[in-house]
Amino acid sequence: MSGLRDLYQEVILDHNKRPRNFRVIEQASHRAEGFNPLCGDRVTVYLNIQDGVIQDLAFQGSGCAISTASASLMTDALKGKPIAEVEALFQDFHNVVTGNGDSPRGLGKLAVLAGVRDYPSRVKCATLAWHALRAALEQRTETVATE
Ligand code: ZN
Repeated sequence: MSGLRDLYQEVILDHNKRPRNFRVIEQASHRAEGFNPLCGDRVTVYLNIQDGVIQDLAFQGSGCAISTASASLMTDALKGKPIAEVEALFQDFHNVVTGNGDSPRGLGKLAVLAGVRDYPSRVKCATLAWHALRAALEQRTETVATE
């Protein structure tokens, strides 16, 4: 059962209990909704982008501990980052949670989600907010589903 302990690390439990940036940005320049039918997770991501930089980033929604913690960690990690860096970070993160990555170098706290690699069904929980974020950046308005 050490795997489960790896999955639900303290950082994840903390971000699930007290999600960071859990609010609506009324004047968001970008927003998108994501839905993970496998688990029932829903998340709406809000962004304010100015001069190619993520000035503000927040989310709302309801879902399992992994999806909430991942969204919370994502908002923490990406605030203040140039949108040009988002895609590379997403690829690194995706590689880590699917077990295709080498070292989570540069991922910072996002690396705590590496444990989901042993639970393929939870990968969609961990990546849901990221899929919504990418949809928002591409100005896609339909709800993105992980399936
Ligand atoms: Zn979930």
